Amino acid sequence: MDFDLTDEQQAFRDTVRQWCQREVNREYVRECDREHRPPTELFKAIAEQGWLGINIPAAYGGLGAGATEAALLLQELGRVFLDLSFWVFRELCWGGFSIGAYGTEEQKQRFLPRVASGDWSVCFALTEPASGSDAASIKTTAKADGDDYVINGQKVFTSGFKISDYVLVATKTSQSENRHAGFSLFLVDTKSEGLTGTPLETLGHWPLGTALLYLDNVRVPRENLLGPLDEGWPLLGAGLTYERLSLSAARTGAAQAALADALEYAKTRQQFGRPIGKFQAVSHQLAEMQVMVELSELLVRQYTWKFENGRNTVRDAAILKLYTCEAYKSVSDMGLQVLGGYGYTMEYDLQRHFRESRLGVIGAGTSEIQRNIIAKSLGL
Ligand SMILES: Cc1cc2nc3c(=O)[nH]c(=O)nc-3n(C[C@H](O)[C@H](O)[C@H](O)COP(=O)(O)OP(=O)(O)OC[C@H]3O[C@@H](n4cnc5c(N)ncnc54)[C@H](O)[C@@H]3O)c2cc1C
Repeated sequence: MDFDLTDEQQAFRDTVRQWCQREVNREYVRECDREHRPPTELFKAIAEQGWLGINIPAAYGGLGAGATEAALLLQELGRVFLDLSFWVFRELCWGGFSIGAYGTEEQKQRFLPRVASGDWSVCFALTEPASGSDAASIKTTAKADGDDYVINGQKVFTSGFKISDYVLVATKTSQSENRHAGFSLFLVDTKSEGLTGTPLETLGHWPLGTALLYLDNVRVPRENLLGPLDEGWPLLGAGLTYERLSLSAARTGAAQAALADALEYAKTRQQFGRPIGKFQAVSHQLAEMQVMVELSELLVRQYTWKFENGRNTVRDAAILKLYTCEAYKSVSDMGLQVLGGYGYTMEYDLQRHFRESRLGVIGAGTSEIQRNIIAKSLGL
């Protein structure tokens, strides 16, 4: 789909697609998945292309492109290797976007060139054991002490912690009646004393992994406070919105890959003397999958257009995230069915899509929470 892209954007998309075809080997992806190994070599190669700085201004070592290019990059990467796309998304979202929009001049100069070059990876810790969907109820505190803040608390599901140099930690720096007040975000060095991460065993997201964090009197210099003290809630909202765009783009690419595998199988697998795709029951599944994939892509493009024109809303991001992530889940499920018993084996990639797609409707705000946001916008 390219009716809405400029010639430059189409050329960029084609360049990334060709790079992916050349550099990302299916067997390597399976190996990283099986061995729970981060794709460090590919991440470095992406950094060399300059793509980690796609949304970072040229003055800070980036390419200074827009949300459309960022989404195209994540979609193409998601098509070949979802966890690789997720690694890049974290740098674009919690690095380029968040530090670019809310950082001080000193922070921009210190962090952005290093994010763009791939030297510093940034992950994000908001969720706590007792605060998931109800993010405003977090308990982790940061208290001023001399030139530092001292952080205490526990975080869960901090993804990509094992490959990150900094973790953007959401804390409470004051308490008040207003439950959205008193939030502050800190860029915490992952090697800080008192900060430990324990890997969690999960259904997927294996190459990057996710972790339980303990923050026990972790000292963070004042200059690592991102955004205004006590007023970090809007920053969190903006970051989560950018996250929903990024994840939707990545999963749209992954859904395209799941569909392509199922289609190929339906054309070649013979039963009852004909390709199974000739059975209407199977072909209709593939037709449904095609519709979901195309609508996902359209929604991503609509959202990036709104974003670039300053017209995106939290509701738009909820619609985008809800549809694209539910679509990836359905496409993976239907695709696995098309492969029959082989879809259930580790020999084919549909099982990976099936596992990975479950996270889409949970992480970054569950589908139920997205529906709540949409319903609220309807005055309900
Ligand atoms: C693999 C993985 C990676 C993740 N990565 C990160 C990360 O990097 N950083 C980070 O901060 N977090 C991360 N998360 C956390 C994720 O965002 C939360 O899991 C998610 O927001 C849901 O919170 P919860 O798991 O505590 O579920 P809960 O909030 O306890 O919800 C449980 C169920 O109740 C439903 N529910 C809750 N409240 C409502 C309501 N008001 N209306 C209707 N239904 C409701 C939910 O939809 C869900 O079905 C990750 C999670 C996973 C599984």
